[in-house]
Amino acid sequence: MKRLLKWLTIPTVLGVLILFITITVLYETLASAMSVLGSQSQPAGYTLPPFVTTDMMQAFFKTQETYGIPVSTGVAQLIAESGFGSYGPGGESGQGLSGLAYNYRNLFGIKYFSGDQYATGSVDMITGEETPGGDLEVTTAAFSIYATYGDCIRQRGRMLSLEPYYSRTIARYKNPCDGSYTTAQANGFMNGIKEAGWATSSSYVTNCINHMVTYNLYQFDNMTWEDYQAGQIPSGGGGTPGSGYLANPCPAASISSEFGGRTSPGGIGSTNHKGRDYAAPAGTPIYAAADGTVIQSTYNSVRGNYLQIDHGNGLKTLYQHCSRIIVQNGQHVNKGQVIAYVGNTGASTGPHLHFEVWENDTPVDPRNYL
Ligand SMILES: [Zn+2]
Repeated sequence: MKRLLKWLTIPTVLGVLILFITITVLYETLASAMSVLGSQSQPAGYTLPPFVTTDMMQAFFKTQETYGIPVSTGVAQLIAESGFGSYGPGGESGQGLSGLAYNYRNLFGIKYFSGDQYATGSVDMITGEETPGGDLEVTTAAFSIYATYGDCIRQRGRMLSLEPYYSRTIARYKNPCDGSYTTAQANGFMNGIKEAGWATSSSYVTNCINHMVTYNLYQFDNMTWEDYQAGQIPSGGGGTPGSGYLANPCPAASISSEFGGRTSPGGIGSTNHKGRDYAAPAGTPIYAAADGTVIQSTYNSVRGNYLQIDHGNGLKTLYQHCSRIIVQNGQHVNKGQVIAYVGNTGASTGPHLHFEVWENDTPVDPRNYL
């Protein structure tokens, strides 16, 4: 919950006792923890900080499945509360966990209370709390000890499924039809966690949302554990015609040419057509087909004004011949966001959007994803 002040030590009898517990726990679990952390890497296509292990991810996906808690919020809280610390593997270079997380598997600074069914005990530590006036108040608090990281993540799930959290998070932001989350809903969920009293720091939500953007954690919110393990292109969408994994980038248009071989339009169009053409009047809005990051936004004489979005897991989309592009290189975009307008720039025989879908750097039929 509240971020620990790493620079404070506890020069008391209590401190000696904690040290004793720490050493005992460390001694007992070091071998297994080392092997777990050392041997685990994330499936292909995902970039997560080194201290986030696959068993942590599995527990996050379980709480998403059980309670409808978006994975993005959990991983973001883990990074914000316990990440880039000096404990455990990578700790010497600041890529490890916090002391509370590593020694007691408490990843979120959860304060001990008798209803914590997953806790095996508690440990007193000094913590800094931000007062409503913005001052920092230093107090001692009892934090839960967990046997595994999974137990801690399951306890977080249980807490969020109960009041005061439930009505401000799951009840408010989960899509009641399919349990999905847009990035805006995941951000709202994160804000609800803070609002219900998880953290006192005024910058807590901003920090967490920054992590959600940086590591594209949103992609996990509509994915199953099986999708995640498969890596690369997530299923439940990708590769299945009619899946709607990608949104129609230009619903107002009519399709003037499909993907594949064709006669060169006007002698200047490609004969091996790598995309799908959406004919529409110049100025018709073009929408992002899925959440992602703009990795190209520029002009050349063939593609005209064009942009490319990276959706993670090897999936990219390309939008060509635009009259105007309104997003910038490096910008994060949401599915359905207006990114550009139909035009006739570059090698084009009339106003249209030429839309391509790339799977691991190879153009594929967009219909597989629409
Ligand atoms: Zn085309």
